[in-house]
Amino acid sequence: MDDMKLPLHLGIPQRRSRLLVVDDQPANVQTLYQALAADHQIFVATHGEQALKLVREKQPDLVLLDVVMPGMDGFEVCRRLKADPGTVDLPVIFVTAHSDDNEETRGLNAGAVDFITKPINPAVVRARVKTHLTLKHQSDLLRQMAFVDGLTGVFNRRYFDDRLQQEWLRAVRHGSPLSVVLIDIDHFKHFNDTYGHQAGDDCLRRVAQVLAAGLNRPGDLLARYGGEEFACILPETDAAGALELARRMGLLVKDLGIEHSGSPSHQVLTISLGVAGRDALPPGEAGGSAAELLASADRQLYRAKHLGRDQACVV
Ligand code: GH3
Ligand code: MG
Ligand code: MG
Repeated sequence: MDDMKLPLHLGIPQRRSRLLVVDDQPANVQTLYQALAADHQIFVATHGEQALKLVREKQPDLVLLDVVMPGMDGFEVCRRLKADPGTVDLPVIFVTAHSDDNEETRGLNAGAVDFITKPINPAVVRARVKTHLTLKHQSDLLRQMAFVDGLTGVFNRRYFDDRLQQEWLRAVRHGSPLSVVLIDIDHFKHFNDTYGHQAGDDCLRRVAQVLAAGLNRPGDLLARYGGEEFACILPETDAAGALELARRMGLLVKDLGIEHSGSPSHQVLTISLGVAGRDALPPGEAGGSAAELLASADRQLYRAKHLGRDQACVV
């Protein structure tokens, strides 16, 4: 299952950590490679621009960065990584020929977590890399916990709101479509009244799980939006595509076959879904706002309820 949908297990490393080694001297690259390749996956860049490109493409867990390079130097690479919200938390260790306090201060001010001096001692490099990977891992975990709904393990409302803003801005910038789906369990008050609150909570977990499993793409996101409400962000997806997904989600929940004898309308648990999408537009053209998109999905959800529940509606 994809990390973006059910974040709780993100804390468990599922692959060897990836390191980016940036150095213009092949001999230094070779030494670092030999010290680290047994335990980590290594990517190599020989200049600053290439380093920034590889960070985007390979999403390393840590960067070992030479200070002195032709063109963009290590300080500038580090400064740029720290200025980008997508890479601000990526640990950078400077690897430098001089052990000079001034340079070390500059590096730390640029946002580096550590400094290693050449000639490289493989055992020291390994130990420091391990320490910083552990710290990074722990801080990622804490950050994620702040964004996770405690009952269901999917993202919480706060994270959804942040991400929707980000995805909206990204969609406008690229001129790409973007959809949201709001999901509300039908007659859930009756469910609690019939089976008890504990059964209600179990039901919410099962619904969250099957909804998360219904998402296809790595960028798709599911959050618990409120008590018995969930919400999805579907980047690069227009309203027609989102409606298709919404209908599939409706079937997945129904196929769970969770008995709901207290429901005035159905014998099994069902959901209603409201879909709204932003079409592809010329890049830079907003054509509305994230709040309007959400409000529109909410109106469609209301319509789905009104039309008899157990269905998805779109504008
Ligand atoms: P509708 O089909 O119109 O959505 O009816 P509904 O009963 O689902 O809607 P309503 O908003 O009136 O009630 C939502 C109920 O969801 C209220 C509460 O009993 C239940 N609920 C909300 N949060 C939780 C929760 O965390 N756990 C449990 N067990 N129940 C919850
Ligand atoms: Mg509700
Ligand atoms: Mg409801």
